[in-house]
Amino acid sequence: MIEGKTFAERLINWYTERKRDLPWRKTQDPYPVWLSEIILQQTRVDQGMPYWESFMTAFPTIVELANAEEDRVLRLWQGLGYYSRVRNLHYTAKYVANELKGNFPSTYSDIIKLKGVGPYTAAAIASICFKEPTPVVDGNVFRFAARYFGIAADISKSGTRKIFENVLAKEISEDHPGEFNQGMMEFGATVCSPSPQCSDCEFQFDCHAFANHTQKSLPVKTGKTKVTKRYFNYIVLKSNAHFLLKKREEKDVWSGLFDFFLVEGERWEEEVLAELSKHIDPAEMTLMEVSESFKHILSHQKIEALFFELEVSDSVLESLTQMTTLKAYSVEEMLNLPKPKLIVNYLQRKGIK
Ligand code: SF4
Repeated sequence: MIEGKTFAERLINWYTERKRDLPWRKTQDPYPVWLSEIILQQTRVDQGMPYWESFMTAFPTIVELANAEEDRVLRLWQGLGYYSRVRNLHYTAKYVANELKGNFPSTYSDIIKLKGVGPYTAAAIASICFKEPTPVVDGNVFRFAARYFGIAADISKSGTRKIFENVLAKEISEDHPGEFNQGMMEFGATVCSPSPQCSDCEFQFDCHAFANHTQKSLPVKTGKTKVTKRYFNYIVLKSNAHFLLKKREEKDVWSGLFDFFLVEGERWEEEVLAELSKHIDPAEMTLMEVSESFKHILSHQKIEALFFELEVSDSVLESLTQMTTLKAYSVEEMLNLPKPKLIVNYLQRKGIK
């Protein structure tokens, strides 16, 4: 304890004075708070804010989100990536609306049972909305706590979270657990960031890392994520301003979103067209253009994509819709479908917005 103030008091003072003015911080209603936590799981605040606003405008209550069509929910999420988040969000909204009569669970142990909710999100909602003193641990908290308290446990190991939770459980404010948790996250995001601003930090004089010059080596993280490289050859089939797209049903990236006919693998242009000729008579198609290469990075995958634009006759278009899962869409209909960011980028590059 320094100057008669506990760590929690100093942190909450800092948070109260410096916190960013964000709309979900003006409420203790669990629905908007839960929505913000799911959106911000893999997304920066400035990027996530317009999505949170669109969702709150389209679905002001959890029951309205529960009753929405899946395509509409996916379309609103378009561009945010990590689509399992939005599928779990929709599933949980239906569960709360139908099984819990619209009442969001109010304790950590019940909130964590919801689909798509892990220890971090459950602790955030329980503390912010229901004043339960459960510490949150996200990437920002790992960094700040590892440095300030001098915790050298490897954060890529699964058991390490418990070590941090135990340290923070002794520090968290019983009266203001939500402010404490948000202060931890905010301080880690803005001051004790990957390039820490120690000269402006009020915790400098009792910070373990500052005293020992270990800011750069904390937190300890040894595990590296394995990244797979994939090659996508998209065949953009069109006729009279109608495009063929299909819904991705397979258990793979972007399940539930719409994309074009896909030939996967590192192939020569001739090989892609040969693959296509198994489905379409070469005399019936005209290759208009092969795009430049598009690169798209996901958490565990690096995708390199080419787009082959083919003009086909109306009758080919029609027979493909009968023989495959492809369906024909006008430009306007296509723009309204939920699509991976990679497809949106390609269409925008073509001036189709
Ligand atoms: S002194 Fe530096 S390392 Fe320590 S808590 Fe402050 S910003 Fe982080």
